[in-house]
Amino acid sequence: MCGIFGIYPHKEAAKITYLGLYALQHRGEESAGIVTHNGSKPHIHKALGLVSEVFDKKAISSLKGDLAIGHVRYSTTGSSTLKNAQPFYVKTKNCHIAIAHNGNIVNAFQLQRQLEDKGALFQTTMDSEVIAHLIAHSPKRDYQEAIPWALAQLKGAYSLVLMFNNILIGSRDPLGFRPLCLGKLGAAYVLASETCVFDLIGAQYVRDILPGETVFIQKDKIDSIRPVIKKDCGFCIFEYIYFARPDSNIFEENVYQTRKKLGQQLAREFPVKADIVMPVPDSGTCAALGYAQHLGISYEMGMMRNHYIGRTFIQPDQAQRDFRVKVKLNPVKPILKDKKVVVIEDSIVRGTTSKVRIKTIREAGAKEVHMRVSCPPLISPCFYGIDFPTKKELIAAKHSIDWIRDFIGADSLEYLSKEGMLEAMPLPKDKFCTACFDGKYLIEPPKKISKYILE
Ligand code: AMP
Repeated sequence: MCGIFGIYPHKEAAKITYLGLYALQHRGEESAGIVTHNGSKPHIHKALGLVSEVFDKKAISSLKGDLAIGHVRYSTTGSSTLKNAQPFYVKTKNCHIAIAHNGNIVNAFQLQRQLEDKGALFQTTMDSEVIAHLIAHSPKRDYQEAIPWALAQLKGAYSLVLMFNNILIGSRDPLGFRPLCLGKLGAAYVLASETCVFDLIGAQYVRDILPGETVFIQKDKIDSIRPVIKKDCGFCIFEYIYFARPDSNIFEENVYQTRKKLGQQLAREFPVKADIVMPVPDSGTCAALGYAQHLGISYEMGMMRNHYIGRTFIQPDQAQRDFRVKVKLNPVKPILKDKKVVVIEDSIVRGTTSKVRIKTIREAGAKEVHMRVSCPPLISPCFYGIDFPTKKELIAAKHSIDWIRDFIGADSLEYLSKEGMLEAMPLPKDKFCTACFDGKYLIEPPKKISKYILE
């Protein structure tokens, strides 16, 4: 779970990258960073925190150059430390390399061992660092050969934005797990995880980078290679369910409309004769709209979300255990009082926040609380870039739906079927990775589960 961005050539590259990262903030709140290149040397600024906390005017004006790449991070491998903030930058004998990565390299551990045997010294605990070492160790000297050579060693999920001296590179793994889009802003090319970025910076969407494709962007031209063309695709279905912003197009299709369809399908499968339908904001909002419209039940915002809880939020010393959840969502009591409520949640991971939310809705006076979830039960961890915990932390991997209903305290609980979810998708079902719902991994998971790079 990360957001990546790149632009070249643009005289305000750093400023535009800052805006791009702002639009991608939902993809990672742990750290943010920008690396620029001014033709001779790179400039770097990165820190832990939200984009607005990491950058100020001074930091942005220190980032000189017309090429920039940026990253917002939500860690899936490696801990959340400044050392692990991206873009990851190294200088080798011949070049400056900076990498912004979204995804997980499944064979990173083995690659790291092989590279260390050849004398590589690793600076971080991120799987992304192996990519830089592979490029540096490539037997090919020309970047157009060295980079494909390095990428060919990787197994797993990667959407990448790379700076190689003053060349901007975008690449997607052969199954295309994570999104990456290409846009144009005047004479500059732009790479971004999601199309909502292009709306904010005024760029035109050109196309998606294709699975297995690498593009090389230079001052006056763009070249593309696609050394591997696979029959299969592994588009992450969870981007549509939870992760991407609803105003984005992912894999060329709109997220908002897809989420609404998930809600409509959920209404077909598990209707409730209720007084109101409400979402768990913000992630359940579009599915709840689809659910309510399909059944002709009024849609209400029974809870309001506080959007301003940054990393630096200070809890009172004697805070109750659920204080953080409470500060994030507050019920609208007159809307809920004496009502039979259907709550739409996009997904249940550990079940702990759902439990607190249902308790809050009941305390606000709701008569009955029925939860409907707009995806099937999550039963297997993700090894391709979504932070799903180990199997034992996934509540649906261990327990029945009835058990979960009692645990979260709902009057009823139903999940959308896998068939229903695929039916609601805007693309054919064989395009998607659904491993978190069925354990069918398209690339064999690593032997050592999660956090597999040496800490
Ligand atoms: P839980 O209480 O663990 O079941 O959390 C469920 C909530 O977490 C839902 O509202 C989801 O929108 C959200 N969610 C889903 N996937 C993730 C994820 N990988 N990381 C963080 N939150 C998530």
